[in-house]
Amino acid sequence: MQNFDSDLDTLTTMKLDQHPTGRHFLQIPGPSPVPDRILRAISLPTIDHRGPEFGALGLKILAGLQQVFQTVHPVIIYPASGTGAWEAALVNTLSPGDAVLMFETGHFAALWQRLALRLGLVPEFIGNAGRDAAGLPLSWRHGVQADQIEARLRLDAGHTIKAVCVVHNETSTGVTSDIAAVRRAIDAAGHPALLMVDSISGLASADYRHDAWGVDVTVSGSQKGLMLPPGISFNALSSKAIAASKTARLPKAFWAWDEILAMNATGYWPYTPSTNLLYGLSEALDMLQETGLPAVFARHQRWAAGVRAAVRAWGLEIQCNDPAVYSPVLTGVVLPVGVDADAVRKLIHERFDLSLGTGLGQVKGRMFRIGHLGDCNDLTLMAALCGCEMGLKLSGVALAGSGVTAAMDHFSAHAAGAVSPASA
Ligand SMILES: *Cc1c(COP(=O)(O)O)cnc(C)c1O
Repeated sequence: MQNFDSDLDTLTTMKLDQHPTGRHFLQIPGPSPVPDRILRAISLPTIDHRGPEFGALGLKILAGLQQVFQTVHPVIIYPASGTGAWEAALVNTLSPGDAVLMFETGHFAALWQRLALRLGLVPEFIGNAGRDAAGLPLSWRHGVQADQIEARLRLDAGHTIKAVCVVHNETSTGVTSDIAAVRRAIDAAGHPALLMVDSISGLASADYRHDAWGVDVTVSGSQKGLMLPPGISFNALSSKAIAASKTARLPKAFWAWDEILAMNATGYWPYTPSTNLLYGLSEALDMLQETGLPAVFARHQRWAAGVRAAVRAWGLEIQCNDPAVYSPVLTGVVLPVGVDADAVRKLIHERFDLSLGTGLGQVKGRMFRIGHLGDCNDLTLMAALCGCEMGLKLSGVALAGSGVTAAMDHFSAHAAGAVSPASA
């Protein structure tokens, strides 16, 4: 007990030192800053999850989610992080030893592949091997290459590959992928594999169309574009995915869709759902509906273009090297060879109370990530860019010019509400 008290004291003192005044700048690409309106909704009293009010809340949320995923099919909600929903997608549809084709776009694609392996699947991880002049893995700078998927599926005449799994917005690199092109590639090869997509960080920030793009399972989470705290995650389904779940033989109990779908018909769950996070989700869905999805997507494109203008003015490299697939959600900033990006990031955190995303896996120490999603606006992003510019200078990184000035020029020249071209 004594130890616990002294730990608590240390924590409190630390917090006071780090947050003297004002708000912490949470500019990581998830968890994203949560709007006060959502925090207030979450603070309401917890209700009976079997009581009469709850069913109405459940039905409202399930219908609202369909609009965000752009689907008429069911969406499952799990009281789990995105990783749980990754597992749910695989265990509901596949059997032990099934071959799965996955494309390497970065750290999150690699983690999903490792999870598949641990479940007893046989993932084949394709992409472009090797590193470029900046020392970055080639496959971590562009999106999924649908032609490579088509070529691989054409070789699989016996249809041993049961699913194609790709990441829509690769949060470790700041690159999106053309999911419609992946669907066309599967169809062009005449292959029956299921298409599963991780849009954990893309949903409700980058345009995403579950039905129009022919996706069988979309995996998503609460703490990125949906502007909620971490803690809930999703599987959006297709009829083909539901049919596959009837014969799939990987063990599943907690994650099984069937009992959840049956209870969801009246707005309830087979277990205790995350009641207060669902209040938050209800509020988030209202906010997205009030703004309209096209305006939400345009807002993120505009922020991303402003941040990229800053990175270019600094003379630093944007990790994504294909302008057609720049992420609207985050930007990966590559630092010159020899600079420890994590040291710069830590200095920025200590000096300016600004959190930036770390370089993950194979790009650790080479880059940092600026998140531009959630409850942001021009001025919060300007503050974040100021923190970056000061931190880069203090770290002795030679900058070509002022990114802050470039971003100010961008934001003042492009009024909010005007749509910037995706590739700017
Ligand atoms: C955040 C994220 C995950 C992991 O989600 P958790 O909620 O941390 O389990 C997986 N994939 C992508 C693309 C992500 O951005």
